[in-house]
Amino acid sequence: MSLIVQKFGGSSVADAHRIENVAKIVTKFKKKGDDVVVVVSAQGDTTDFLIEKAGEINNNPSKREMDVLLSSGEQISIALLAMAIEKLGFSVISLTGWQAGFRTKTNHTNARIVKIDTTRLKSELDANKIVVVAGFQGVDKLEDITTLGRGGSDTSAVAIAAAMNADLCQIYTDVDGVYTADPNLVENSIKLECISYDEMLELSTLGAQVLHNRSVEMAKRYNVNLEVLSSFEDVPGTKVKERVDMEQLLIRGVTKDDYTARIALLNVPDESGYAYNIFSLMGKHNINVDLIVQSYGCNNRKDISFTVPLDSMDVAVEALKENKDRLKIDDIKVSDSVSKVSIVGAGMQMNPGVAAKFFEALYKANINIHMISTSEIKISVLIDKKDSSLAVKLIHNAFFDY
Ligand code: ADP
Ligand code: ASP
Ligand code: MG
Repeated sequence: MSLIVQKFGGSSVADAHRIENVAKIVTKFKKKGDDVVVVVSAQGDTTDFLIEKAGEINNNPSKREMDVLLSSGEQISIALLAMAIEKLGFSVISLTGWQAGFRTKTNHTNARIVKIDTTRLKSELDANKIVVVAGFQGVDKLEDITTLGRGGSDTSAVAIAAAMNADLCQIYTDVDGVYTADPNLVENSIKLECISYDEMLELSTLGAQVLHNRSVEMAKRYNVNLEVLSSFEDVPGTKVKERVDMEQLLIRGVTKDDYTARIALLNVPDESGYAYNIFSLMGKHNINVDLIVQSYGCNNRKDISFTVPLDSMDVAVEALKENKDRLKIDDIKVSDSVSKVSIVGAGMQMNPGVAAKFFEALYKANINIHMISTSEIKISVLIDKKDSSLAVKLIHNAFFDY
């Protein structure tokens, strides 16, 4: 007998028919003798719809109240799925995130899981029940409701799998695995049989929303046996694990992130400690800085530009403006019409021509690069947003020979 954690995303539980389909998948495993914990997201576009509803009332609501609102979407799903499983004659119980023992930090709308108290989960499984848990939510030390950030139900599932030492964590979604590029954007993208935790972590951090990046981080840390597969088609998915044979692939995938903004500080002092001052200010505001470029200093002045997530742009600019005099900032230029396009793959470490091939694909399409950043297993560039979809297709085709 195995313990399996299965997660179903918004499109997999979008309507009654799909919920019944999920109930069939879940009970198939239970019938085989497995213990099953199921994590579900809010139905379809419910979370977007709830955000819109908040906006009708207040365009700057407190994050605490946003969490109370957003967590309701997942609560609807757990009850409906439990009802569908009941109808098939199985013993089942639905639990909210807090009933399932999720304790998080307080940073509302993007809270980190601190621990899961698994007492209740274990006792319900011991009573031979299928346990249906609301993804994306927990409570902080005051027992206030928190949510884990968009796409966070994947992380809820992996966290349960880690805490319960599950044999397998399956992420069911609307595509049948992880592809070399978003299959909804690049028609001839290829399904990967497996991918390493490190490569998957880069891909999801750089925009491939098929897995929430924190779920991959956690799967790596606790060595969770993770699989991405389709809830609509019974075909093999993609396994995410520690080691993967290099095969013939130079790179594992191409991805883009359209939710990024560039901030440029022009003509700032070329002195020691300057970068520290800027980036510690960003850190204080909980802003993740990504690509950073500093120009060659001249006449004791230089330019520094960097990217931040689009939803942090206003806070970042505000903080810089407030500290304009202290940081001797003359001129701040901001652009939200940029995208980050990246290639990821452990294979590039051993193959020198990869960067050139990547840049050639952009050059051939006359796409200008604003910033570049590399690590051992990825190369990212910042380009104009209007070119990002085309760039992904062209780069993909350059590497996968179509
Ligand atoms: P869910 O609601 O099940 O959590 P998401 O919409 O969060 O589903 O993630 C699935 C989507 O991820 C797919 O529909 C696909 O468009 C997108 N995606 C982006 N990059 C990739 C990739 N490399 N491989 C597979 N899917 C990807
Ligand atoms: N419902 C949440 C969202 O739409 C969490 C999730 O789907 O994982 O972001
Ligand atoms: Mg998702």
